[in-house]
Amino acid sequence: MAEETTPQSASPAAPPPAPPATPAAAATSAAAEAAPPEQKIKVRKPRQRSCDEKDAKGKLCAGHLKRWYDYPKEVKAKIGKDAEIYRCEFCKTLYKPDPKQMPHSFTLRY
Ligand SMILES: [Zn+2]
Repeated sequence: MAEETTPQSASPAAPPPAPPATPAAAATSAAAEAAPPEQKIKVRKPRQRSCDEKDAKGKLCAGHLKRWYDYPKEVKAKIGKDAEIYRCEFCKTLYKPDPKQMPHSFTLRY
């Protein structure tokens, strides 16, 4: 008969209780469908000529940024009268010119 020497662990090393996982999947914004589509306005990076927006799959849009002249009143209210604005030909994201590369010497502040 061999005596088994069981190690006497006085305090069993129990793992610390894991923090409760936050249910991030449950956080769905239901207000998105009711709200009107918000016009996204970004600022162009220096020498940026194509859109750098990414869609839901993470694919780069890369649409051409075209000068947009006949923008509606809502946009005009945001960017100001006679403002220089560019729009992506694909995702319609608006781009303001880089403030450092303003063709005019004056700076408008709102
Ligand atoms: Zn785009």
